[in-house]
Amino acid sequence: LGDLELLAAPLGETEVRDQRSVLTAAESLLKIVNDVLDFSKIDSGAMRFERLPFSLRGCVRDALVLTAAQSSTRSVEVTCDIEEAAADMVSGDESRLRQILVNLVNNAVKFTNTGSVDVKVSWAADQLCAAVSDTGPGIDPSLHTAIFESFEQGDSSDTRRHGGTGLGLAISRKLARMMGGDIQVESKLGSGSTFTVTLAAPVARE
Ligand code: ADP
Repeated sequence: LGDLELLAAPLGETEVRDQRSVLTAAESLLKIVNDVLDFSKIDSGAMRFERLPFSLRGCVRDALVLTAAQSSTRSVEVTCDIEEAAADMVSGDESRLRQILVNLVNNAVKFTNTGSVDVKVSWAADQLCAAVSDTGPGIDPSLHTAIFESFEQGDSSDTRRHGGTGLGLAISRKLARMMGGDIQVESKLGSGSTFTVTLAAPVARE
């Protein structure tokens, strides 16, 4: 969608703004459709996972590229640190891991007005661990269980302002659990949040 030719045509300021609104609306709609599809796939037991070799670093890089459009519109710096000793070619479902990372980074950027979002990736004993930390508003501990429930959103005005479906974290946690891991949150109001995803990522056999 980002490469829509219409945006490259010689348009006036108003047209460019209108086209961007159309693009944003289309992207939001696509996200809702995909969330609903994933939700019902998981619900009906029809979700299947690949176990194919992929590059861990490539997957993290792709996830960050996909979130770049959103982060470039905010005063938020996104950094990434992948432990040098981490295995690279691992076996698993690359697109589902990318989906979880995109969801966590997009949330972190969405709720953080200024500051940074730091992605730290480590790997040990066939388990991948990716922590996404932000300097955003933080989440009251009383909501840490609820935000992982389907259709649940935090109660702040920030959440209402940013929209969303309340499905992203529920889907991400279910996917992580089905891939041999989990997602946890550490956060308190006013001190940013860290969402940590773990999942099984055995070294790929040649
Ligand atoms: P959505 O973002 O569509 O509302 P999610 O399931 O992704 O749904 O998130 C649920 C809720 O968790 C959000 O509405 C928000 O209140 C809270 N949340 C998620 N990530 C963050 C974050 N990084 N900082 C602050 N609040 C967050």
